[in-house]
Formats: sequence, structure tokens, C-alpha cells
Amino acid sequence: MPGFVLEFTVGILLVAVVLLVLQFGRIRRLRQALVAAEADRSHEAHLAAELLRSSTDLICVTTLPDGKTRFNACWESLLGYRPEELSPERIEEIVHADDREPLREARRMLESCDGAVGVESRVIARDGTLRWIAWNWTRSPSGDLLCQVGRDITDIKHWQGELEESTQELRQRNEDLADALRSARQATKLKSEFVANTSHEIRTPMNAVVGMTELLLTTPLNEEQREYAEMLRDSAKSLLSILNDLLEFSRLEARSASFETEQFDIREAVSAVIHLLYPRAMASNLTLSCFVSPDLPEMLVGDARRLRQVLLNLVSNAVKFTDSGKVVARVGIVGETKERIVVRFEVEDSGIGIAPEDRERIFEPFIQVEGSATRKRGGTGLGLAICRQIVESLGGSIGVISKPDSGSVFWFTMPFGPQEKRVAEPEKELEFSADALVGVRILLVEDNAINQHLTRRLLEKEGCVVGIAASGRLALEVLKQEPFDLVLMDVQMPDMDGLTATIEIRKSEAGTRRIPIVALTANAMDGDREQCFTAGMDDYLSKPVSRESLRRCLLRWAGRPASVQT
Ligand code: ADP
Repeated sequence: MPGFVLEFTVGILLVAVVLLVLQFGRIRRLRQALVAAEADRSHEAHLAAELLRSSTDLICVTTLPDGKTRFNACWESLLGYRPEELSPERIEEIVHADDREPLREARRMLESCDGAVGVESRVIARDGTLRWIAWNWTRSPSGDLLCQVGRDITDIKHWQGELEESTQELRQRNEDLADALRSARQATKLKSEFVANTSHEIRTPMNAVVGMTELLLTTPLNEEQREYAEMLRDSAKSLLSILNDLLEFSRLEARSASFETEQFDIREAVSAVIHLLYPRAMASNLTLSCFVSPDLPEMLVGDARRLRQVLLNLVSNAVKFTDSGKVVARVGIVGETKERIVVRFEVEDSGIGIAPEDRERIFEPFIQVEGSATRKRGGTGLGLAICRQIVESLGGSIGVISKPDSGSVFWFTMPFGPQEKRVAEPEKELEFSADALVGVRILLVEDNAINQHLTRRLLEKEGCVVGIAASGRLALEVLKQEPFDLVLMDVQMPDMDGLTATIEIRKSEAGTRRIPIVALTANAMDGDREQCFTAGMDDYLSKPVSRESLRRCLLRWAGRPASVQT
């Protein structure tokens, strides 16, 4: 063989060997990749099997289109069914009959969409118990796998049921409470109306008793007769004050009491109370004094009438329950902002004091400390209850510090508005002579014969000329025929009441002189006063009216002033 042929053959062989080696390398790499892929697949299969085994959710996977289905172990642990006894048809059988249709509907929806469908149904376990399952069904993007995952929500459903029951119960209880509150409010309102009506009925004859006694006292009497008449007047007045207390308390309790806001001089309000009780303190040999802190502004804005009422009650108690020594009232600021000034009032006495166990009780209605001391001093046990209602209604608080046999300090706080910028011009005060009412023509509109007689006598004593009308309708007639300077108008009357009569009078006056009309009524509820003013009345006198308050009112509206003071 020629040499070049040999070389050529060797060359070919070498190339073939190289190619073979290269091919082997590729085959080895391919084998390695195949082995790795196999390992991955078996790892994934292992993971999937582990996931199915350990899941606490029910899992059911169906391959399509052959419909082969696998169930995980949870079906057995949760429901008692072994995977081999289950099939998609069997699932439908173990679902509660009422929930099958929603389940079918969910399946239909899943067939028509690619996403997930959720549905809840009750499933009957092998032992017959029911479990609530929340299903989540999905289809693989390639459409060949249907996966159903069911989570046990029986406990959640149970709690939900309990929660709904409690919510329902609470709702019911709220409604019952609201009903009870409505009934209680209604009952309190009825009670307060009853007290108001009773008080009206009692006040009418009381008006006669007080008034007639006052008239009696203006006639010549011997000493014994005078003493009896004075006792009669004092008893009638104290009966009236008990009646007023009862009425006031029932109004405050029914929350039908009204509160006013006005600008007032705080020092004047405090000293008015002190002056009123000065004679009583003097009679008991007590020193009565008051200190108002210089920090307090001259004027405050609040309910001056209610403040005086509370202070009067406390100072009058202090005087009542102190046999010797002193009663001191102190007033100072305890808190101040731009909008609010909180004032603390203290009434200190050196009296009988209050035992610790009684200090809270005495603010309850009708509570009086047992013992001869209280009996001897009288009272209704309503004063402090009224004070507490007023103070708390106005946003303050009230209490007592006391030591038996050494004395007490009753205190309360009350918020007020600060002084308004512009202080109103003081009203010009008119001065009247003793005969300022002589010849003043007054029309008394009153249906009750005793009251007619009584008020007529009081008016005649002032020198007034009195005309009488027994009803609102008659008053309208009389006013058409005769001129009068003022009308004293009873409110409750048969035929035509005082409010209607006033409205009619005001209509008939249009453009002409306006006659002052003063309500004279035994109605004592808050709101009556407003009704009178709304009807067109100018002032309001509550029966039984004393000679003094009647005179003051008449002077204001029909008196002839002697001079004008500025
Ligand atoms: P009243 O004075 O009409 O009995 P209150 O409600 O004003 O009713 O007072 C209730 C009770 O509190 C009184 O009966 C009395 O026992 C006691 N009390 C009130 N103020 C004082 C005081 N300053 N000192 C001692 N006891 C008092």
C-alpha cells in the first residue's frame, strides 16, 4: 500500500475518533440532564404527594378529559371517607340535599370561566354529623386539571351563628331598654303633670286662705285674734312652700324645668341671698357674712335665678341647723378659660354637723337625718335634692364636708359664661308715691267667686277701680264698652280661657293703644309663663299672689310715677 494511502486512512481514523469522543461527551451531558430532570420530577411528585398528605384542607384533583380523580387523606381524617371509596358522583351524594344545587351551579360556572369559583356547603360525614365546607374550585390554565379545595369552616359558622344570636339578643335588649326608658319618661311626665294639676287645685283655695288672712290682718283685730290670724297666715305660707318644693322637684326630675341665661351681677346675687336671711340669722344670734373673691368679674352670664335658689337653700339650712356661732358664704374661681368660668360657692356653719354615713343620703329626695334636731327644725327633705338637680343640670357638682357637733361646709360649683362685651344700660328706675294706683281702672277676669272677691279687695285697698268679667268672652264684651288701664287675666276659665281671650284682645287692638295684660294664674309649671307671653300677655303673677307682688306688678304696668330717677 502506498504511503499516502496509509496516511490518509490514519487521518480519517483520527477524525472519526475525535468525532466519537465529542459525541460521547454530548451523550453524557444529555444523560446527566435526563437524570437531573428525572430527579426534579420525582422531587416535585414527592412534594405534591406530601402536600396532599399533610393538608388539612380537603383536596380533590381531576384530570380531564379522562376524569381520573384523586382525593387526599384529609377526606378520611375530617369526614371518615377513605379516598378509594370516593368519586365526583359520591361527593354530590354526601353534600346536604339543600346545598347540592349551588354546588352544581358552581361547577357550571367553572366550566364557562377560567378563574376560580367559591361556594359553601354542608357535607355529611360518615358518622352522620354535618360539617360546613368552603369550596374553592380552580381549573388549570391548560384546562386539563380540575382542582377542588375544601376548607372546614364549621367552627366559624358556629361562632357566626352565636354572634348573630348575641347581636339579635343585644338588639332586642336595646329595644326593650328604649321602651322602658320611654315608659319611664312617660310615667315621670304623667306624674309631673299630676303634681302640677294637683298643685293648681291646691293653690286656688290656698290663694284664698293666704289672701283672706292678709285682708283679715288689715282690719281692726284684738290681740288674740291677730295672733291667730298671723299663725294662720304663717301656716298657709309654709304649706305653700312645701307645695312649691314638691312641684319644683317633680319638674326637675321630669327634666321639664327650664333654665335661663342672662348677664347678672354675681356680687348682687350673693348679697341678695345674705340680706334675705339676715333677719333670721340675727334672731338666732348668729353672725352671717359673705366673701366674694376679688378675682371674680363684676358680671357673669348664667342662670342667676337658679344660682340664688341653690344658695338660698344652703344658707337657709346653715342658719336652720346652727344654734350659735357663725354662717359664712365664700365665692371664688376654681377654673377659667376663654369661654367658661367655673365658680365655687361654699357655705360654712358652726352648727350640728352631719355624721359620715348621712353625708351622701341627704342629697336624696325626702331624706332627713333622724333625730330630734331635724324634727324640731322642720322641712320637707327636698331642698338638697332640688339643689343637686339644679347644680348637675347646669354642669356643676355639689357636696358637703362635715364633722358632727362642729359644723359643715356645703359647697357647689357652677360654670358661667364670662361677661359680655357690652354692658346693657341700666333701666331707668321709676319712683312711685303711695297713691300711684289710686283711680287706676283694672278689669279682673276671673271665674272663681272667692278669688274675685279677694283680688277685688286687694285692688280696692290700693285705690284701683275694679271691673269684673267671669270669663274670657265676657271680658271681650266689657272691653268694647268701657276703657281700662290694665287687665288681670285668669288663665283657666270655662267658656273662653285667658290665652284665647288675650289673642282676641290683641287682634282687636290692631293699631290702637295696647292695654297691658297680666296673667293671674295658679298654673305653676314651666312653660305656662312662655305660653302666656306667646299669647300676647305682658307679665305673669302666680297665685296665690301677695299684696306686695300685686302692687309691684301694677305699679310697673299702670302706676303713675311721681318722678324719674336715673
Ligand atoms: P330640709 O332642710 O327641708 O329637711 P334638705 O334637703 O335641705 O331638707 O336637707 C336634708 C337634711 O340634711 C336635713 O333635714 C338635715 O338633716 C341635713 N342638713 C342639711 N343642711 C344641714 C346643715 N347645714 N347642717 C346639718 N344638717 C344639715
